[in-house]
Amino acid sequence: MLGKELEAFEEEFASYVGTKYAVGLASGLDALWLAFRVLGIGKGDEVIVQGNTYIASVMGITINSATPIFVEPDQYYQIDVDEIEKKITDKTKAILAVHLYGQAANMTRIKALCEKYNLKLVEDCAQSHGACHGGQMTGSFGDFGCFSFYPSKNMGAFGDAGAITTNDPELARMMKIYRNYGSEKRYYNMVVGANSRLDELQAGLLRVKLTHMEDITEERERLANNYNEKIDNSHVIKPMVLEGSTSVWHQYVLRVPDVRNYQDREGISTRDFFKKYLEDNGVGTIIHYPIPPHLSEAYLYLGIEKGILPKTEQYANEVISLPMYNGMTQEEQDYVIDTINSFCD
Ligand SMILES: *Cc1c(COP(=O)(O)O)cnc(C)c1O
Repeated sequence: MLGKELEAFEEEFASYVGTKYAVGLASGLDALWLAFRVLGIGKGDEVIVQGNTYIASVMGITINSATPIFVEPDQYYQIDVDEIEKKITDKTKAILAVHLYGQAANMTRIKALCEKYNLKLVEDCAQSHGACHGGQMTGSFGDFGCFSFYPSKNMGAFGDAGAITTNDPELARMMKIYRNYGSEKRYYNMVVGANSRLDELQAGLLRVKLTHMEDITEERERLANNYNEKIDNSHVIKPMVLEGSTSVWHQYVLRVPDVRNYQDREGISTRDFFKKYLEDNGVGTIIHYPIPPHLSEAYLYLGIEKGILPKTEQYANEVISLPMYNGMTQEEQDYVIDTINSFCD
């Protein structure tokens, strides 16, 4: 049901992000694919996106039959802006800027490229609620900001939920039409839309969650700073944040480059050996993400061979996300840090 809680949430969320409009939807993936649908991006069109993103970013493009063009990541795990221009063709219609792991991408430069080449700009903010670039919040730079409120995100609901943000009244209006079977007036359908309503119950919960976002983000910053200061082991590379950007630390991602002798000894990468070591010592970790989208079975049809995106593939073999959640105690974190610092060959 579309109701009063949703309307209030949309107003409050837009004001939080710093846009004129927000439209509640059923999920982050819906936000992405509907964004491209409303922008009229489809078959024969190309959308530029970083290679090391979560696969949902890519599905948002391909559900519309558009083609994802992958760009390698930089040392901040965000799209390498220096590599974008080479990938622009006359089929390029948009850039999808993902703020991966909660860090704002270099929106100053990405926005400049969009203006120079007359491209649409869509942001994947599923991991970046509250992250800023140049003091401006992610989700307010592009034609659409796409948010997920899946329970595991920094701003989570009790179940699936999502939203878009925009400054354009016509885009906001069309998004509302698309989320409701393509209908603005009952039983009159303008376009083939979706059933992508944000439930009243979730909207009510998200209104409360929104009032806690500052605390949630501060706590994660404190946890990330602890990791940054106290992790001390030559085998691991700590995450870096671009000057002018902030991270809301959806994930705290280390890299563990391969050391030959581990491979000889265990037949597995140093990262996997490190992961197993942590597991054996009671520290659970996750890999975000072990298979880059271009190598997943779902995207074999794109015909992008292994080795074409070496940095993306390297990161997939090196990254590991440490425990990071609101409510993590000092004791728990110190144990993780001590365990990491004792890792040796
Ligand atoms: C979670 C996520 C999505 C998809 O959001 P859902 O609400 O799960 O559909 C899209 N992009 C990124 C980067 C995500 O982390």
